[in-house]
Amino acid sequence: MHSAFLENGNLITAKEYIPDLHGVQLFCLDKVCRVPLIFVQGNDDVSPHFKTSGKNDSVHKKNCGFSRKLSFQESVNKVAEFQQDLKNKGSKELLIRLNLNAIDPDYVAKSIERDEKEKDPTNQEEIKVKKDSGTPQSIGSLKAVKKLFLGYEPDILASIIISVKGKKIAISELIRSHEESHKALWEFNTYENVPYFVHGTVERIIRRDKVWFIKFDSSFSLVVFDRYFKHFTYKDDQLIGKNILAYGYLKKNNYNPDKPSTEMIIKSNKYLEFL
Ligand SMILES: [Zn+2]
Repeated sequence: MHSAFLENGNLITAKEYIPDLHGVQLFCLDKVCRVPLIFVQGNDDVSPHFKTSGKNDSVHKKNCGFSRKLSFQESVNKVAEFQQDLKNKGSKELLIRLNLNAIDPDYVAKSIERDEKEKDPTNQEEIKVKKDSGTPQSIGSLKAVKKLFLGYEPDILASIIISVKGKKIAISELIRSHEESHKALWEFNTYENVPYFVHGTVERIIRRDKVWFIKFDSSFSLVVFDRYFKHFTYKDDQLIGKNILAYGYLKKNNYNPDKPSTEMIIKSNKYLEFL
């Protein structure tokens, strides 16, 4: 763990921690846990961190976010919880730039046209790893998002602020389950002109002449229009029952006023990642 609570209720990171100054009482930051922790000095291989000693009460409780490796969904949920809990408690912010232009077939076509003359610096395929913070400085694919949530502890993830389309947004606001995304959109809790990530299990697929719907449930669908059919090659059985992460802009569908639903427009296979 990279952060812990001090006796006075403030958060401290292992990098900033000075025992004489801050005291030796340290506690797990998960509210379901709060067990005592010990400090481990860093060396060339490991950065300074906090951990349980395994003795007496110093063992993470069962539902604590640090008790075991979390799945993608568990990690996303825990990070959302931490971003709420740790607000205004002195947590550090880690800024990561999100730019998924490279997955957009329209953008790629345009950039190939001008590619010979000027290389576009925003066109980043993969994440770049910055050595000192450990976390990437930028994210350029859905795979990188998945890797982030599976590769870092929830306290690090909870400190991540995403820079996207000129806005700075807590990572837990950008990645939600399809139920939460639907709710957020219809309760006006989303940013305009900002793309989102949703995760969920595909329930069924409807393929019409001009449009395909990949449905999580009756109120949330991913939508592929016919001009992008050639970029979306997954068969029904590759998707149904699968847990996926999808990326795109959220759109209200009030065709049926009694049953408002939410759509996310996607353009190719690259807008999905299997979890
Ligand atoms: Zn704990």
